[in-house]
Parts: sequence; structure tokens; C-alpha cells
Amino acid sequence: MRACIVGAGLGGLLAAANLAREGFKVEVFEKLPYPGGRFTNLPYRGYQLSTGALHMIPHAERGPLGKMLRQLGAGVEIIPSQPQAKFRISGRDYEYEELPSLFPLRDKLKVAKIIAMLKLGRATGEESYRSWLEKQIRNELVFKIADSFTGWSLSLKASEVPAKEVIAQTKNINKLGGPGIPAGGCGGVTKALVDVLQSEGAELHLKQRVKAIKQKGGAFEVLAEEKRSYDIVVSNAGPKVTAELARTILPEEYARAVSRIKGAAGIKISVACKKPMLGHSGVLFTPEAERINGINEVTNAVPELAPPGEHLLMSHQRLAEGADVKREIELGLRDLRELFPDFKKYCRVLAVQVYRNSWPVNRAPSGTHLSPATPVKGLYIVGDAVKPEGWMETDGIAAGVEEALRHIKASY
Ligand SMILES: Cc1cc2nc3c(=O)[nH]c(=O)nc-3n(C[C@H](O)[C@H](O)[C@H](O)COP(=O)(O)OP(=O)(O)OC[C@H]3O[C@@H](n4cnc5c(N)ncnc54)[C@H](O)[C@@H]3O)c2cc1C
Repeated sequence: MRACIVGAGLGGLLAAANLAREGFKVEVFEKLPYPGGRFTNLPYRGYQLSTGALHMIPHAERGPLGKMLRQLGAGVEIIPSQPQAKFRISGRDYEYEELPSLFPLRDKLKVAKIIAMLKLGRATGEESYRSWLEKQIRNELVFKIADSFTGWSLSLKASEVPAKEVIAQTKNINKLGGPGIPAGGCGGVTKALVDVLQSEGAELHLKQRVKAIKQKGGAFEVLAEEKRSYDIVVSNAGPKVTAELARTILPEEYARAVSRIKGAAGIKISVACKKPMLGHSGVLFTPEAERINGINEVTNAVPELAPPGEHLLMSHQRLAEGADVKREIELGLRDLRELFPDFKKYCRVLAVQVYRNSWPVNRAPSGTHLSPATPVKGLYIVGDAVKPEGWMETDGIAAGVEEALRHIKASY
């Protein structure tokens, strides 16, 4: 069986490695000169910046990605964040468990109840996380904490994500634990997967854009530099691009439905620091900052991402549709200076990266659950638009690839 993978982002590489393991003859086509898409390193002045991600895996080794990497024999160590997270409120950093202590007595119990409901509860329907919270409590700090969590992890406001999705995600955090940092950063994972592809005899063609996916005589005909024939096609190019590439074979309603999906956008600021500014490897949520939702300093766990003795600090902020990007960047930079009074003395901004349109934070907002199977038998999609309920970011991608593999195994 011949499989064509369109795009060598994380979803494409995971699908390719799994199918090669299953005995498929796999070819991967990537239009860029490097594999990894938004999950690889961008070396700059001795620092390992990234093409997208903040060098973190949501559930470290215990989530779907960690599990899949192990099953594939991809040798990547994922160092658990310590602590998992802190929250900077009125200039002090609090652990999650300490949050109820911040509230007046009348709200303390309500906050403890919300925490318990997030751990054990269920929500149905499309009610947003914000309106779900408003039913439990009226407290601005609670709403700001919620926005900082969803802004950091999903690039959405709490009002833009269904409550049932956040509850499912929180349950997974409670069950599996929080984030971890792969040795070598995002690039460490990409390299390990490319090594698996090589050892399994899969072919990776870089600088080769796929221009069309058609069907001829019961097989797929994929046009890149030349036309080739395959039994199945797995696209990692995102649902919209896939619908364009396969427009002659996919029903129009499908193309129309995916064209309505709006991605989630964000801004990442990477900062070089002469000393540790956080001093830990977890996420610092910043609910009171004007724009920044959270910050990490991954070099406390993986020092090789910065020159010896220095640190890489990264902030992330959600970017609203139609916002003035220049102004949003200015506000983000102002937040950094306010969060760290000694910022000017020890820190230097390395890069400000804006993620939107065809290179967003998420091609589909969390809570959109697209099936990996398209209406055309044998054509599948993987990547960050195909995340099953409760799984965020790269763990969601791995869970989506698992689902795609189940569909493929059932049919072939
Ligand atoms: C600022 C930011 C911070 C993030 N932080 C984290 C984090 O800390 N942890 C985490 O888990 N996730 C994080 N994410 C999300 C994570 O980076 C993405 O979800 C993930 O990298 C997307 O992978 P993907 O499989 O969708 O593929 P993509 O990265 O979208 O790759 C798709 C590939 O397909 C190629 N392609 C497209 N069209 C064609 C074509 N016609 N022919 C050939 N090739 C084609 C593209 O060039 C690309 O390489 C972050 C994202 C951003 C932007």
C-alpha cells in the first residue's frame, strides 16, 4: 500500500512514521526547505527560537504525544515542568492550589466549587466557558484567570471556547499532569521523528509543494514536482488547503464548511535573559497583564536552548481578529517591562512573531472537532485542526493522528 503525506508538520510526521511502521510505502512532501512546520527550531544568535510552539508539550511524557513518540521508538526525553504553573497576582506568584486563598470569604467556597467541578464535572451544549463561570460566580479575577489560561493554551478568550472543552482539558491535566519540555526543544521532537522515518524507509521530499490531489482508476494521483499514484493520502496542510488541493474530488459542501473555520491567532515574544527571570520551568500565567496571557522560561529545564549561562523567556498573547497588530505588540512589550521591573537591565528582545492567517496558532479553534476522515474514502486530514475533545495543542494532534490511524486500519 502506498501512502502520500502532504506536509511535514508534526501531524504529517507522526502519521508518516506510524504508517511506515504499519508497512505502508510512505512518501512525505513538504513545500518548505525544512521539516517540522510550526514545531521546530529556528536558531538565532545562539538561541533556539521556534517556528511556532513555546517548546512545551501539554502533558509531557504522559499524554498522547509522549505515548506515541515512545511507541515509535523516537528517542526524545521530555522533562516535566516544575512547578506545572504559577499565577502572578498583585506582584506575587501563586500555585493553582493557593488560588482560593486570594478571594474574600463569600467567594472562597465558590472558587473551591469551580475547581472541583473542573476536575469532576461535565458540561453539555455549546455554552462558553465564560458563561459557564458566570453561572457560578461574579468575580473579575476569576474571569481574568480563565482568560489567561485559555489565551495561553488555546489563543482564545474564555468566551470563545465551549465550557465542555475546557472541562475535558482540565480533567486530562488532573489525570496526566501538566507540561514538559522536550530535550532539544521542538526541534528535538522533529529530528527524532525524521530519524524514525529514515529508519523505516519512508521518503521525505523537501521543497516540494503538492499542487493537486485527484483520483484516477481507483487510486489517488498527487501532483508535486511530478505526478505519482497512491492508495491513500493524508494531508497535514490544514482543512482549507486540503479542500483546495482536492477540489475536483471533495463535495462542495465539505469545502464550504471548512472554509468557514476561523483559526486562532497569537503573538509570541522571545527574550534573551542574562539571568533567570522566572527561575522555574513551568508556565507563569499573567491574568492581570493587559495583553500577555502567560510566560515560560524553558531553559530552566533544557539549558541548551540558550547560550551557556543565559535564558530564553517566551511570552504568548492571544491576537483578536482585526486587531491593530503593531499596537498589540507594543502592549505586549509594555506588559513584559511591567511584569519584570529589571527587564531593561537583564533582557533583550530577540524576536516578535505574529501567527495568523495561513501560519496561525491553531488552524481550527479548540472545541472544533473535525473528523480525520473526509467524505472521500482514502483521503484523511491530520494536524491541529483535527483534535479530539479534551486534547490541546500537540497532544491533540497526536490524539487526532491516532484517530486517523483507526479509520485507516478499519478500511485497509
Ligand atoms: C505561538 C505558538 C505557540 C505554541 N505553543 C505550543 C506549545 O508550547 N506546545 C504545543 O504543544 N503546541 C504549541 N503550539 C501549537 C503547535 O505549534 C501546532 O499545533 C503544531 O506545530 C501544528 O502542527 P500541524 O501538524 O498542524 O502542522 P503544521 O505545523 O501546520 O505543518 C504543516 C506543514 O504542511 C506544509 N504544507 C502546507 N501546504 C503544503 C503543500 N501544498 N505541499 C507540501 N507541504 C505543504 C507546511 O509548509 C507545513 O510545514 C503553538 C503554536 C504557536 C503558533
